[in-house]
Amino acid sequence: MPAVSLEKAQRIMRRIDTLAQYSAMDGMVTRAYLTAQHKAAHQQLAEWMQQAGLQTWQDEVGNQWGRLVSANPTQGTLIIGSHSDTVVNAGKYDGPLGVIMAIEALASLQGQALPFHVDVVAFADEEGTRFNTTLLGSSGVCGCWNPAWLDIVDADGISIGQALAEFGLEAAAIGQASRQAESLKGYLEVHIEQGPMLESLDLAVGVVTGIAGAKRYLIDIKGVAGHAGTVPLALRHDALCAAAEMISCTESFAQQQQIVATVGKCQIRGGAVNVIPGNVQFSLDIRSQDQAQLELCCQQLLEQYRTIAAARAVTINIENIYQASAVPCDAKLQAQWGEAVAAVTGKPAYYLSSGAGHDAMMMANITPMGMLFLRCEKGISHNPRENVQLDDVAVALACLIQMLHSASAW
Ligand SMILES: [Zn+2]
Repeated sequence: MPAVSLEKAQRIMRRIDTLAQYSAMDGMVTRAYLTAQHKAAHQQLAEWMQQAGLQTWQDEVGNQWGRLVSANPTQGTLIIGSHSDTVVNAGKYDGPLGVIMAIEALASLQGQALPFHVDVVAFADEEGTRFNTTLLGSSGVCGCWNPAWLDIVDADGISIGQALAEFGLEAAAIGQASRQAESLKGYLEVHIEQGPMLESLDLAVGVVTGIAGAKRYLIDIKGVAGHAGTVPLALRHDALCAAAEMISCTESFAQQQQIVATVGKCQIRGGAVNVIPGNVQFSLDIRSQDQAQLELCCQQLLEQYRTIAAARAVTINIENIYQASAVPCDAKLQAQWGEAVAAVTGKPAYYLSSGAGHDAMMMANITPMGMLFLRCEKGISHNPRENVQLDDVAVALACLIQMLHSASAW
């Protein structure tokens, strides 16, 4: 059975605390793309990578890399990593855990003959905190960088193009950050679960089956505004009552279909205490790991909205504002993570899907990808209360090291 080392896990935890200090705000963790904190955090990561015996470099998008060089590589390069950026007032573990654990895993492999190079990557932008565009770091690596993004501006009006230049990167060279699919062996990512499943099952880790696809809509309901005292109920076209019926229908539909659907925003336009709501807008976020099911559920749920609108004689306008396709994890890598988990924990692996997006979904464009989730306290993330247990970190590290050992035989 692979050794579980608390000492190594402690070092990971100490480094996570250290990295959390590279923040734009005192007392909280905020680290955005192409900022001074990004630069300083990556310099710190590069130092730890060098201590682990890795060759380091920064790519043209600002991602930090470290390579455990194989003396005689006969196969493609294996990439392990996660992201180093955070949301505003973030937790310490979302992203950095996967990067720092990868460095620790490679430190354990120093001096061992591998038939391939292993690269650790810290993706510089996953969250989209500064420019509202997610997965910029991994997009560059996958050759999916869109030159039009250079004109996207942050809250201060600074464009990505300007920010790259100020950071010391050349926008014209970004194409050089992309890695060729044929030169890669796969991509592995360890990440906190960001949900409550593993904790509810009392499990340290779980193997990810895929990343859910998501669609988002903006629903606009127009009824008829009127006096709250004079218009009898039977003659009303209350936009909020229609929206309320749709929202309630959303919950029961999602339960029936075993998907997740959320109305996170709802606004009465021109609302007042004595006015029948005439115009209501709400958002719908709907996700499934199965793309076909997602498409069908959207169709059926929106049809139910239309039926409710027709019955209440209000008009409904539905705008699709976002979509990301479901991405399954590689079947072989899932099985290998499963074997690693069973070897380390002595129990069969638990498999679960990811409702949140990750760099792995972008990396799937160029190489097989597999993910391992680690239990986080109460499923809380994107929040200073984000927390993980030392023992779980030790288990996840042992699983990752086991994966690297078994990778030699892939
Ligand atoms: Zn993350």
